[in-house]
Amino acid sequence: MSLGEFELIARWFTQPGRRRDVLAGVGDDAALLDVPAGQALVAATDTLVEGRHFLPDAPAESVGHQSLAVNLSDLAAMGAQPAWALLALSVPRADEAWLAAFARGFHALADRFDVELVGGDTVRGPRVVTVQALGFVPRAQALRRRGARPGDGLYVSGSVGDAAAGLELLRGGVAGDAVASLVHRYRYAEPRVTLGMTLRGVATAAIDVSDGLLGDLAKLCDASGVAAVVQLERLPLSEALLGRFGAADAERLALAGGDDYELLFTLPPSDAAAIESRLAQFCRITHIGEIVAGRGVRCCRAGVEVAVEVAGHDHFAE
Ligand SMILES: [Mg+2]
Repeated sequence: MSLGEFELIARWFTQPGRRRDVLAGVGDDAALLDVPAGQALVAATDTLVEGRHFLPDAPAESVGHQSLAVNLSDLAAMGAQPAWALLALSVPRADEAWLAAFARGFHALADRFDVELVGGDTVRGPRVVTVQALGFVPRAQALRRRGARPGDGLYVSGSVGDAAAGLELLRGGVAGDAVASLVHRYRYAEPRVTLGMTLRGVATAAIDVSDGLLGDLAKLCDASGVAAVVQLERLPLSEALLGRFGAADAERLALAGGDDYELLFTLPPSDAAAIESRLAQFCRITHIGEIVAGRGVRCCRAGVEVAVEVAGHDHFAE
């Protein structure tokens, strides 16, 4: 590399200390972090491999954003407040333009959620980005996948299917203003951090939609030992998605597509209306179905059960 490893870290990834709970950050052997009393540390990590999780021609800024966003989304699904991140970066060479843009995307998102980068590593190799995000949540209020009960309402934030549509368009070489919003949803997912924190002590279960709504819902149901019924006509589909793909494909993308990073959660029926109106003040949420006794996920259209075949995302499936 033309830049040494230390120079690379110093140039792109050292921030002025912004958080008082960072006792030692980048520049020591390990980060030394102060977890507030009574809070549990919440940790998530995710690896993005070029050609597998991002396209080789993806703007570096979007890769920087995505690498942190997917981790913040996992923290959001636990109700956690993000605090710190670590970054391990493998790049084939010290391409300054790529690194500058990557760092810009990463730091722009980190700034918005007051996340400080407290450590990392850089190596020469194929382009692979691993981020670990750390945050905290009051011990008794963490959101879990388990906890949904028959009678709970099933909700999803935002709209679903847009990111998978954006990826499908990029893979097909389709670009331009007409599809820009869908491509943007894929490249710049918005982690639902504030919603997750608001759901503390309120939602009975939660998961983020990273691998597809039905696949992730099945995981929530398995963890809770319950079943779910999804009313297909209630799925929140964006006008951009419907306009470009039509109703049938939009529904397929919404159910099976990944990368939306919306929150899927359950609310007890007793105070659902009050909670719904409180949440709706800052984030669109949609009541898409119900939790029932049993196992598995079923879909209904206009009250009639319909068969929907989708495979959840499995990294090791061929
Ligand atoms: Mg997740």
